[in-house]
Amino acid sequence: MPSAFVDDIREVKEDNPFESMMERFDHAAQLLNLDPDLYKVLRVPNREITIYIPVFMDDGHIEVFTGYRVQHNFARGPAKGGIRFAPNVTLDEIRALAAWMTWKCAVVNIPFGGAMGGVICDPSQMSQSELERMTRRYTAELIDFIGPERDVPAPDMNTSEQTMAWIMDTYSMHARHTVTAVVTGKPIDLSGSKGRREATGRGVMLVTNEAVQKHGLKYGETRVVIQGSGNVGSVAAQLMSEAGYQVVAVSDIHGGVYNENGLDIPDLQAYLAKNKSFEKYGKAEPISNMDLLELPCEVLIPAATENQITSHNADRIQCKILVEGANGPTTAAADEILERKNVFVIPDILANAGGVTCSYFEWVQDRMGYFWKEDMVNERLKDIMVDSFHEVVRYAERHNVNMRIASYILAIDRVANITRVRGIYA
Ligand code: NAD
Repeated sequence: MPSAFVDDIREVKEDNPFESMMERFDHAAQLLNLDPDLYKVLRVPNREITIYIPVFMDDGHIEVFTGYRVQHNFARGPAKGGIRFAPNVTLDEIRALAAWMTWKCAVVNIPFGGAMGGVICDPSQMSQSELERMTRRYTAELIDFIGPERDVPAPDMNTSEQTMAWIMDTYSMHARHTVTAVVTGKPIDLSGSKGRREATGRGVMLVTNEAVQKHGLKYGETRVVIQGSGNVGSVAAQLMSEAGYQVVAVSDIHGGVYNENGLDIPDLQAYLAKNKSFEKYGKAEPISNMDLLELPCEVLIPAATENQITSHNADRIQCKILVEGANGPTTAAADEILERKNVFVIPDILANAGGVTCSYFEWVQDRMGYFWKEDMVNERLKDIMVDSFHEVVRYAERHNVNMRIASYILAIDRVANITRVRGIYA
């Protein structure tokens, strides 16, 4: 074992996503027998930027928000990753998410590195014009660090097509010409890609289909539980119910609803759009987010946020297949318990890679100035997701490890090889 691994013993906090990411990285790097010098290079981000963002609020006073952009790795191409707005954003969370983007792009073999951004703010308490001013100032501060060849942001929690339009416009004003490929997840009319909005949820379904077949299950007999009803969770629920799965429980931040015989997803989504929560939906049993995770089901899809399945509840998880729609919903400590229980985990860096894969398609289309039909987008997405699933299964079998560690081994191997070939500029 290279000494770098032995010497580097950190105190691991279970709910710190960066520590969770590093624990898996270290484990995979060890199994891969990664060169200790390359290990030193790959275990740290390339660059971390902290920005203090002064914003005129609607009543005329100024608030100063803190924002981050972590650019983890550029070895395989421009950095790529979302931007989230939330009150509980931390630098360690953004670091973890940036690294996960590097590994995710490598797992699905698209030519990007990884990055992530975030601003500590409560968007539910801000007006559209306050959000616009904050987004534009954040973009202006990052102007030298982002761009189609440098770092290409995308939406994440509480950011949207509109946020991407503001970033693209601000960047273009500084460049003095329209630069559509600086962000992905834009509105379709603004050089976005057909299929992008649904791509993460669709990718979640595509890998679930492969896992369900691998386990000899039939869609109609497969009960699915989904935590989170945002971009990822709501599309996964809709597409999976259309495909014939029995979606038995869904939730949002306020709680969820459960019906052991299956929910009427179109009815529930119409209800949520109108009432902003499932709270008073009378046609199914109310259920808390924590109880929902422990429901009997074949497929569980956490599609909300980090640290939902931990050492405290992993023992009570009943699913056969866990599909990580969210980034980092399972802690490293929970992984061990799930493995003992023989739960088949499709890790985040594979399961939710449909979004960045379609973002890659959007970036390609923007640079060509030629836009594809939705069928072509969906067909190419399916090819990549299905091939990547089976590639990870092959790595898992070859190295005799679970799907998570197999994904990390595959990703680290790809990033390390490119880094070795490029060499270190000194
Ligand atoms: P979103 O903001 O559209 O939706 C988040 C959903 O989760 C909402 O329904 C919200 O009410 C719910 N939620 C938030 N906190 C919760 C909590 N503590 N408990 C239960 N529910 C909670 O976000 P999204 O884009 O759907 O992203 C969800 C997750 O998927 C995040 O981890 C994100 O990083 C990841 N992800 C998103 C994309 C994408 O393309 N949007 C791609 C890859 C990964």
